[in-house]
Amino acid sequence: MTITDLTSMGEPQADARAEINDRLKRLQDHASDYCYQCAKCTSGCEAHKLLELEPHKIVALLKRGLITELVNSDVIWTCMTCMKCRERCPQQVAPIEILFAAKNLAVQSGKELPGKYTAMLQSILGTGLLQEVQTVTTAANATMTRDQLGLPPLSVPSDVAKFQASIMAIAMQKP
Ligand code: SF4
Ligand code: SF4
Repeated sequence: MTITDLTSMGEPQADARAEINDRLKRLQDHASDYCYQCAKCTSGCEAHKLLELEPHKIVALLKRGLITELVNSDVIWTCMTCMKCRERCPQQVAPIEILFAAKNLAVQSGKELPGKYTAMLQSILGTGLLQEVQTVTTAANATMTRDQLGLPPLSVPSDVAKFQASIMAIAMQKP
């Protein structure tokens, strides 16, 4: 059964809809009511997995107040945060922010984060970097480091405790 099937049986949640639309307005995006389902967001979406529940359908779910199944869906974690849906929307609705809100609601309700998110958060808090510094493979199949490529070292926080406190303060702010 797809998430769309599930939501066809769902009950609207007016409070959750208002909360997410308030988030959009605070960010100077427009509420889901402005969406006229042109699907420009979906046509530029970079997340193949997310296309199981396309961004314009996510907005449609919000318009109808069907939030629970969206929050419970693994699909919300597959957005690559490329921001194309925000850039492409002629109505300034920003499906990406709806996905962020759905993720926040999922965490608030005690849902477990996908493992890759936990690893990313630990890496950011520990080093300021999303992931370990990567090597690249050249066309000649040689493995090159940043140093070998003549790239400068990435800067990392000099005071990790202070950095972590700053990150947590930002994280606690209401968007
Ligand atoms: S691009 Fe904007 S108006 Fe068009 S479907 Fe997506 S959210 Fe709605
Ligand atoms: S930000 Fe997410 S939902 Fe929006 S286009 Fe990119 S991958 Fe798709």
